[in-house]
Amino acid sequence: MPSLDYPLPLQRLIAQIKGLPGLGPRSAERLVLWLMQDSGRVEPLVDALKELVARVHACSQCGFFIEHETDCALCQGPNRQQKIICVVEQAADVLRLERSGAFQGLYHVLGGKLSPLDNVTPDDLRIEPLLERVRHLQAQEVILAVGSDVEGEATASYLSDLLRIEGVSVSRLAQGMPAGGGLDYVDELTLYQALQGRRQM
Ligand SMILES: [Zn+2]
Repeated sequence: MPSLDYPLPLQRLIAQIKGLPGLGPRSAERLVLWLMQDSGRVEPLVDALKELVARVHACSQCGFFIEHETDCALCQGPNRQQKIICVVEQAADVLRLERSGAFQGLYHVLGGKLSPLDNVTPDDLRIEPLLERVRHLQAQEVILAVGSDVEGEATASYLSDLLRIEGVSVSRLAQGMPAGGGLDYVDELTLYQALQGRRQM
């Protein structure tokens, strides 16, 4: 007797969902079953995904998200200092730093951090675009606002070596940053202080 399973489209959706970060097979299955319980739950999700694809993309310069055919407020804003670039792991870190109000320069989203165990190599991150921006803008300082965990430190050290060859001053967030943590664990005041007290690398 063939073993019983969900209909194929349902299996496919579970397979898609469990590929998302932080979701294992069990939680993916629970999530999909929850969606199926009420027909009104699926369509808004589908609409939101379609609208996302149709209207939003990452800025080719900073990597933060913008709506199609609009200028990036972070790159084109009239009051942004164009000679100082703050490098972060994720787009969410940009929002945290912006809300702290401590930084008026440009951002650069790397898209992750170096992690040999997860097969994240320099080619997977937006490192070459960063070096190009540094040259093009003739940047004076790059602040490495990546986390202080092992991967974050390795990423900072790797970037710092490359950036020094470009002749740019490199600094790192300082006091108040929890050891072993990313920016998502830090409140805005701590972030503000960490930026003010950044140290040169
Ligand atoms: Zn931008």
